[in-house]
Amino acid sequence: MSNSLIAIDKSGSYRVYITITTDMVQKAADLHDTTPLAAAGLGRVLTAAGLMGIMMKNDKDKLTVSFKGDGPARQILATAYGNGTVKGYISNPYVDLPLKAEGKLDVGASLGIGELTVIKDLGLKEPYIGTIALVSGEIADDLTAYFFISEQQNSSVALGVKIEKDLSIGAAGGMIIQMLPGAAEGAIDALEVMLDKMPPMTTLISQVKEEGAGLSEEGMVRKLLEEIFKEMPEEYAVRPLEERNIEWNCDCSHERMQQALMTIGRKDMTEIIEEDGQAELQCQFCLNKYNFSKEELTEMLNNM
Ligand code: ZN
Repeated sequence: MSNSLIAIDKSGSYRVYITITTDMVQKAADLHDTTPLAAAGLGRVLTAAGLMGIMMKNDKDKLTVSFKGDGPARQILATAYGNGTVKGYISNPYVDLPLKAEGKLDVGASLGIGELTVIKDLGLKEPYIGTIALVSGEIADDLTAYFFISEQQNSSVALGVKIEKDLSIGAAGGMIIQMLPGAAEGAIDALEVMLDKMPPMTTLISQVKEEGAGLSEEGMVRKLLEEIFKEMPEEYAVRPLEERNIEWNCDCSHERMQQALMTIGRKDMTEIIEEDGQAELQCQFCLNKYNFSKEELTEMLNNM
């Protein structure tokens, strides 16, 4: 299975990371029981994190994107690995606001004024941390600004999540175009023309799904790439380099929860043992619950 592609243009001026994440976003929406507005915000962030994940070199490289603001959604956070697995959550999955004038979900207002933070753990001594003020809170704009300000990288980010009337996820996906060093002027101009008249990502995905009925996931994402870049001049035409897959996966476990619990300190641990006699921890990404008995907690306290 691969729902994502990495592509490059003939002149080596730009690289494209593109994905269709309808299934992944549906899974996250089901898990977190989201409102349409929360699903749109969380879906965009998960999709972007997945794309940024496959931009990293090694499977184990890890990246966290956090959008935090003074709006009612409070925070949307996603963690992705180089192998394309993603997990995430929204602090308020029940957030609901009036639609914008064009009838669109107001993800920007749900986040409000705040910050975007990206943490990259590439296995080096220190993780890389970049923070910028939110531009619009609409996710794609904020990430474009992040790439430019924090990574001195000219990029274009497009993301979309379409919610159907029955509240299911009709289409979700995204694309990051990254300009490469020494990019040809002509390629930059041609991309600008293309992006100017590009329909929304979800419209394109729905169209490809309709026209490509029966196609595999791989076929679908190839068709999406072709559709978006069909009018590029021949010398800047894209060709797929690599098939990848972006999918939901939570890597929590009893052992990991135990490690987290060990960090609270002897005093708090003693209190939990004496007052509650047990502990229940919930993973904020997949909402799995982990129980720790009094015996286990006592053993942990002895090891602290
Ligand atoms: Zn989990």
